[in-house]
Amino acid sequence: MRDSKKPKVIILIGPPGSGKGTQAKLLSQKFHLKYLGSGDILRARQKISDFTGRKLKKIMNKGELAPSFVIIKILGDQLEKLKKEKIKGFVLDGWTRIIYEAILTDEALDWYGWQNSKVILIKISFKEAFNRLTKRRQCKRCGRLIPWIGEFKKLKVCDKCGGKLVQRPDDKPEVIRERLKEYKKETIPVINYYKRKEKLIEINGQQSIEDVFKDILKAIQN
Ligand SMILES: [Zn+2]
Repeated sequence: MRDSKKPKVIILIGPPGSGKGTQAKLLSQKFHLKYLGSGDILRARQKISDFTGRKLKKIMNKGELAPSFVIIKILGDQLEKLKKEKIKGFVLDGWTRIIYEAILTDEALDWYGWQNSKVILIKISFKEAFNRLTKRRQCKRCGRLIPWIGEFKKLKVCDKCGGKLVQRPDDKPEVIRERLKEYKKETIPVINYYKRKEKLIEINGQQSIEDVFKDILKAIQN
């Protein structure tokens, strides 16, 4: 594969529980791309004590999503900053949850001169997502999230620090069901949009983390 053909911008999409964050991080390591996860960046933004920082903190503590306007503004600020850095490209995770965000993200990428983006959809069934999210646990001591996949299902204590594993309060079945329904409604237009642009790569997410990663590598190197 010629270097110029490698995607410089990879956008990950997939339902909650699909493991897209994990795959995004693996991809950024493999191709030496910067990882831009909306979760981390929004949490960092909350620490700036201005109007948006304080308001973000308030709504995110309630479990509400940041509005698209704020998402795109923050993404734009990140891309502006990256113009001053020498980077090969980046992986976007969590910026294109709804159709407006997908369209505006493309405009922002064009504006800053990042062409050649690829979009990876990690597909898992509603049932699989529901199981993974309602059964995942968190370490009480170090906060590590233990996914409900493969060997991890057998863990009785945290594999990093030995701490006690508990269920997360926001992983209640009724909350998860609502989140998945919301995802389905908002994301189908996003998926169709990327399909029309011939950017979409669909990956079977119902495999081990390693096999999902292998499939992604095969697909983007083709
Ligand atoms: Zn732990």
